[in-house]
Amino acid sequence: MPIMISLDLSGKVALVMGVTNERSLAWAIGHQLLQAGARCIFSYQGERLLSGLEKLTKAYPETLFEVCDVTQESDLERLFARIGSEMGGLDMIVHAIAYAPRASMEGRFLDTTLEDYQIALGVSAYSLVSVTRHAEPLLRSGSSIVTLTYYASQRVVAKYNVMGIAKAALEASVRYMAYELGSKNIRVNAISAGPMRTIAGSSIPGFRDMFAKAAATAALGRNATQEEAGKLGLFLLSDLSSGITGEVSFVDGGYNIMGMALDG
Ligand code: NAD
Repeated sequence: MPIMISLDLSGKVALVMGVTNERSLAWAIGHQLLQAGARCIFSYQGERLLSGLEKLTKAYPETLFEVCDVTQESDLERLFARIGSEMGGLDMIVHAIAYAPRASMEGRFLDTTLEDYQIALGVSAYSLVSVTRHAEPLLRSGSSIVTLTYYASQRVVAKYNVMGIAKAALEASVRYMAYELGSKNIRVNAISAGPMRTIAGSSIPGFRDMFAKAAATAALGRNATQEEAGKLGLFLLSDLSSGITGEVSFVDGGYNIMGMALDG
């Protein structure tokens, strides 16, 4: 007998943070959630992003939007107060937010200033902690949180610099929060995506090279796509992954498994 698996997220509420445009990984996951029937609230960094979000989601009129710069405590308070009053609770969070000052990714990692270090770690790693803490009273049993990370947390990737340290902190934060929230049946996981052409991705110095080299090395002989990252997000946010927490799951065409390939 075949096992029938259906993914119906109707009645579930998701917060999706970090959509800039249709290429954003947050949109790749958010779109999957909408298609599966979840009701979504999208938070965005600044007002200029709202009209694009409204266009992307026009087929889903129940969708809500709220501005939230994750470095601003008052923004976080307003966002979660609104989710509480208008949505009554929360089942899923997509955290797809990162930033490092450009100068910190151009020179040597050794020359990173304290200010740039704090900005990169604050926006890209600590924000997952503060978002989760604010969300905790609203998160129902069975909730799932997903963030986005990159392989440069584990191995040196030239120019990724302080962002690699931020991703290492992010992945460790995932594990600590998975432990602390496990008794409430709330899961926390990270998706480690290979290079993808987004605004954040393309702003890394040398991104074109990185994209081509990663594709040539990957076991599949190509980079993973946004849609593939979106499908992994859907899996990790749904009940299909109910036994998985604190993990870093790769969607990179099998880049990270490679040691050395030989020609022919
Ligand atoms: P993106 O530029 O589309 O998304 C980054 C988002 O972060 C933007 O929407 C931006 O507004 C938001 N952001 C930055 N500072 C913020 C702040 N202070 N408050 C609120 N939002 C803020 O790029 P993306 O590639 O989709 O990035 C999403 C996540 O995926 C990031 O964590 C990134 O590091 C990660 N990631 C990307 C790649 C890639 O190659 N594109 C690979 C692995 C991981």
